[in-house]
Amino acid sequence: MIEFIFTLDYEIYGDGTGTLRELVYEPAEQLQTLFRKWNAQFVAFIEVAELEKIETYETDQAIHLVKKQIQDLYRNNHEIALHLHPQWCNARRKQDKWVLDYGEYNLCVLPRKRISEIVDRSLHYLRKVVGQPEFTPLSFRAGNWLFQPTETAASVLAENGIQIDSSVFKGGLQHNHTLDYRRASRNGYYWKFSSDVNQSDARGSWMEVPIYTEMVPLWRVPTTKRMGFARGLGIHGQGFMQKLNRGRDLLRFSYPMKLDFCRMNLRELTAMVHRIIQKDRQDPSSYKPIVAIGHTKDLTDSQTVDDFLAFLRANKITISTFEIAYSQMLSEMSQAPCLSSMRGQRIERDRMCLRNRQSL
Ligand SMILES: [Zn+2]
Repeated sequence: MIEFIFTLDYEIYGDGTGTLRELVYEPAEQLQTLFRKWNAQFVAFIEVAELEKIETYETDQAIHLVKKQIQDLYRNNHEIALHLHPQWCNARRKQDKWVLDYGEYNLCVLPRKRISEIVDRSLHYLRKVVGQPEFTPLSFRAGNWLFQPTETAASVLAENGIQIDSSVFKGGLQHNHTLDYRRASRNGYYWKFSSDVNQSDARGSWMEVPIYTEMVPLWRVPTTKRMGFARGLGIHGQGFMQKLNRGRDLLRFSYPMKLDFCRMNLRELTAMVHRIIQKDRQDPSSYKPIVAIGHTKDLTDSQTVDDFLAFLRANKITISTFEIAYSQMLSEMSQAPCLSSMRGQRIERDRMCLRNRQSL
């Protein structure tokens, strides 16, 4: 059984350029309208560190629209999840431009104390924005998908109530940041993990639901629909060693193409889903959450998304969120005895979460 989970990284460009209205607010409004039309929800991964800085420094008046939009998303039962680009946490202004702290680019390599500070502060801000002091997101996605080394960051996030990660894209490799998700390729559509996100561990307290990928030759990776080659592959503005490492990443026979509903065209999207349906026919009884990714800053053609939602409806594929899918995944894993006692608590938590929201 296939279910789709649409995830939306809600952010401006990672170097601090771009405006909230153009790169965040307007595309998210378009998506909200479309999903309402199809009576469906998505998961909004809110990059809170940049929003907090933008509000503090009053650099973009659209911050007020954005905060109101996040509250609307929450009230309309879209899932609000945590996304973090920690290079924003020490950001400052110089000559009307952002100076970001790239020493903190990867949350996972920071000392535990610093990770705790960043997570605490981000959750505090997110709660304020959502307007619910008790709000705790269920799901997390690391900035630039960097959730390695996993152990310390996962432990801090778990202490704060977060239980699902969706940073992994199977086959992923970035020499610049020592990211390597190739070993995750042997795992299923979702898995439990503890100290290493690549390693399935039935006794782990975390669940990984990776972004869906297919290994394809580089020429098939979509780069042209929404943006130029340089920005799409992250080469813009890098130094020699970074470019060299990025070149090494690309010197592979195959490359992971993410299921990206903002970058892929309709033909690519539907062809990929047809292949997923074919695979599902070999094992229709097992639950298969398929995570699609998009970025507000990449959405320039909402008609493709509308057509894709119509295609999923025609193929009777349900659209879900992590909050809803979590119970299903836990129930599929219920054979594992160590999980059974936690399962009831978590399912109850999911129900509470939806109940509370509906009563707003
Ligand atoms: Zn991001």
